[in-house]
Amino acid sequence: MQSVPSDPWEMALEQFHRASRYVPLKRGIREFLAFPKRELTVNFPVKMDDGSVRIFTGYRVHHSTVLGPTKGGIRYHPGVTLNEVRALAMWMTWKCAIAGLPYGGAKGGVVCDPKQLSGGELERLTRRYATEISVLMGPESDIPAPDVGTNPQVMAWIMDTYSMHRGYSVPAVVTGKPLSVGGSVGREEATGLGCALVAREAARLLGFSLEKARVAIQGFGNVGSHAAVALHRMGALVVAVSDSRGGIYDPTGLDPEALLRHKQARGTVADFGQGRPVSPEEVLELPCEILIPAALEGQITVENASRVQARVIIEGANGPTTPEADDVLRDKGVVVVPDVVANAGGVVVSYFEWVQDLQAFFWSEEEVRERLERLLVRSVREVWRVSQERGVDLRTAALVRAIQRVADALHTRGIYP
Ligand code: NAD
Repeated sequence: MQSVPSDPWEMALEQFHRASRYVPLKRGIREFLAFPKRELTVNFPVKMDDGSVRIFTGYRVHHSTVLGPTKGGIRYHPGVTLNEVRALAMWMTWKCAIAGLPYGGAKGGVVCDPKQLSGGELERLTRRYATEISVLMGPESDIPAPDVGTNPQVMAWIMDTYSMHRGYSVPAVVTGKPLSVGGSVGREEATGLGCALVAREAARLLGFSLEKARVAIQGFGNVGSHAAVALHRMGALVVAVSDSRGGIYDPTGLDPEALLRHKQARGTVADFGQGRPVSPEEVLELPCEILIPAALEGQITVENASRVQARVIIEGANGPTTPEADDVLRDKGVVVVPDVVANAGGVVVSYFEWVQDLQAFFWSEEEVRERLERLLVRSVREVWRVSQERGVDLRTAALVRAIQRVADALHTRGIYP
């Protein structure tokens, strides 16, 4: 995996400034949208299994509350920084606005390596971090969800911790929960399935068939693995996948469900024993029609963008392509469906989960899937139309729509007092 070449917050700001040129905004409003609304840093102790106490650092950032309560995942990773969390929070604002969800953007993170923590340590870290950020969190104010290194069990601990402090169950405080505590059917696979639905729509707009289209995926976690399974079921050929330990490439196609079982048993896809081994970076440069970066930020850079062979990139990860790489890809004719559209399936079904929890009335799998598909297809078509009308790439078009929506609401609400 490439080292992150440019700061994610600088990337997010550069993308914002590129797009905001196309939106008539007063200078003060432009500046307001470029700042996170509030940022919380917490340093907190956790009792380790060996009896020692370790201090961990965590963050929760709200970028915007203009459209509603804030929504955004929580990341557990050694590389978490305040600037990364800021960038992810801003991208959440745009993502929710494009999808038409009544949310502003937020993100959280704890600097830790969850793979090095025992189950008990992970639970104590989660419950303490949830308590520390509970000044911001709540079903009407800020609703977290899973991201890299967190999962439904972590969400269940957050829900339980918050509920214990209130004295009654508050399932709507967090999404991506297990079904047994108010989760939604379809949430776990929503981001990856959403990527697949977006890829299908992009292929249609670009005029090629998904049938036997070759797909390469970097990152085989929640997003990457579910995207692989969904695209395989749609008839595409998954030719390469990778995770942090390595990757494999077989031009005749891989079976994503068998890969998933292997990953669950062995912790990596690298030794699957089919095709040839490749490095996580090489996956980005293999011959394919559809490339899905689904790991971390800053993977497609000015150094490797010219070697990308895909026709279309579906950004499963947040911020995988730097602004300089965007320029190279545009000149090469590679279409990039940006993160704020391509991976919105997760927050869309999180929104469905929150609505179901608030109403205490749960939907069927068909209802979730049908509403998800309708909403994502509408978003892709709308962003495509704006890109054609304005003569800009899809990222700029997506951000133009998002900035317009937030600015319109801000204008209508007015500046307090
Ligand atoms: P995850 O932790 O489930 O999986 C991450 C995957 O990336 C794993 O396969 C891991 O091995 C791989 N990876 C991590 N570090 C790597 C490295 N250094 N080199 C190569 N591979 C590496 O996380 P996820 O939830 O699938 O999230 C992946 C991306 O998708 C992130 O950018 C996240 O912000 C974004 N995203 C996730 C969701 C969601 O619902 N989970 C929603 C929208 C966007």
